[in-house]
Amino acid sequence: MDDGLRGKKPRSSGEYEAVIGTPGVPRPTRRGGQGGFDTLVVGAGFAGSVLAERLASQLNQRVLVVDKRPHIGGNAFDRYNDDGLLIHPYGPHIFHTNSAEVFDYLSRFTRWRPYQHRVLASVDGQLVPIPINLDTVNRLYGLSLTAFELEDFFARQAEKKARIETSEDVVVARVGRDLYNKLFRGYTRKQWGLDPSELDASVTARVPTRTNRDDRYFADTFQAMPAAGYTRMFESMLAHPNIHVMLNTDYRDIVNLVPWSHMVYTGPVDAFFDHRYGKLPYRSLDFAHQTLPQSNYQSVGTVNYPNDYAYTRCTEFKHLTGQQHPLTAIVHEYPTADGDPYYPVPRAENQALYRRYEAEADRVPHVTFVGRLASYRYYNMDQVVAQALATFKRMRAQHEQAQAALQLDATDSAAASDASTALAG
Ligand code: FAD
Ligand code: UDP
Repeated sequence: MDDGLRGKKPRSSGEYEAVIGTPGVPRPTRRGGQGGFDTLVVGAGFAGSVLAERLASQLNQRVLVVDKRPHIGGNAFDRYNDDGLLIHPYGPHIFHTNSAEVFDYLSRFTRWRPYQHRVLASVDGQLVPIPINLDTVNRLYGLSLTAFELEDFFARQAEKKARIETSEDVVVARVGRDLYNKLFRGYTRKQWGLDPSELDASVTARVPTRTNRDDRYFADTFQAMPAAGYTRMFESMLAHPNIHVMLNTDYRDIVNLVPWSHMVYTGPVDAFFDHRYGKLPYRSLDFAHQTLPQSNYQSVGTVNYPNDYAYTRCTEFKHLTGQQHPLTAIVHEYPTADGDPYYPVPRAENQALYRRYEAEADRVPHVTFVGRLASYRYYNMDQVVAQALATFKRMRAQHEQAQAALQLDATDSAAASDASTALAG
């Protein structure tokens, strides 16, 4: 798994003085290492909470976590609605990973409820499995192909592409244009406000194609939901006595008031630098939540609507949470250009703009940028946890290096003082 880290080297103190003077960039406000906080963490989502937990529990640091929202958990926050149903206000979050390290780490803070997500797509008046599998093709075309025959079917439909560059290429080169039009083109245009031909291949490549009847949305080794919900898991991560949490607080309001030595920043990277090179595009969503007066609504967790309606998908939370309740809660997702930044938009020109911000970030050694918005990557939750754990290891190595240098300084000055005492004697 790519941890998305930049190779930040420890710098000499002279260099440090030079960079912390960058205009508009907050400077550490703690003097002399007494009182205040070792680390100010901006954002209480996965990136911020993992780092806060690690720094507090492993390096005994005093950590202040600030979030401008009224809750912890970032976009993975969940809560009980007025009807007592557990919902995900920022859209359905399903945990899945191939990383035993990530799963073991999070398992310290939660028990799990095994859950394998299934999605149907509403196409031509039918509900068919997505990712495309043997049943999808047989139902859409009224065929009864076997898995072997399906491979030949795809080969006949597939368009030859010298290079796979866009999100259109990925799909048409594998399953052909008709399935692309039925399942991917409309959904992607709605979700991103762009044609798949304008998006990096990585976007639609998230959804595999199968020739068997496996109808799970994810194929990862670990697929489960936090048994008592995400917010409980975050509460447990942030429960360390060295961690203080301040909600409803934009970091800019306190950054010069509270003493801190290092910052971990997990918000949008362009906002940190006051959009000095222009805004990075982030795609947003409006969530239409509803409670329905019935115990069940749809047969699977999510139904996708690639070609009809302004929304992309509808999720019924009880499938994800396993909650027993006489009512049920659903959410429809309406993509928008404006609103909270939810999705970095993967395309070359945005990556080029991000690189300019990344170069700025590299020049600020007292701030560590981590997470989906701060590294402008379309990361899943497990990838953010992996990135945060890798970042912590790097921070710990730097801490140990600094401690060793201090130790060496202390030994040198003790030796110098012994020598001068001996000379004086
Ligand atoms: P965030 O969760 O965005 O946290 C950043 C925090 O920083 C926010 O709480 C924000 O309020 C705070 N912040 C920003 N600026 C400031 C400021 N100036 N001052 C103070 N605080 C600030 N991943 C999966 O693995 N599975 C899924 O099923 C899944 N579904 C998703 C569905 C949707 C609709 C979305 C949008 C994302 C989904 N994800 C999913 C991705 C997942 O949400 C992210 O990978 C993860 O939450 C990112 O964590 P983060 O800490 O990097 O960022
Ligand atoms: N996608 C699609 N049709 C679908 C499902 C996905 O076209 O039925 C495309 C769409 O571009 C989407 C991308 O594949 O944004 C990634 O899908 P995923 O379900 O991973 O999106 P997320 O859950 O991150 O919103």
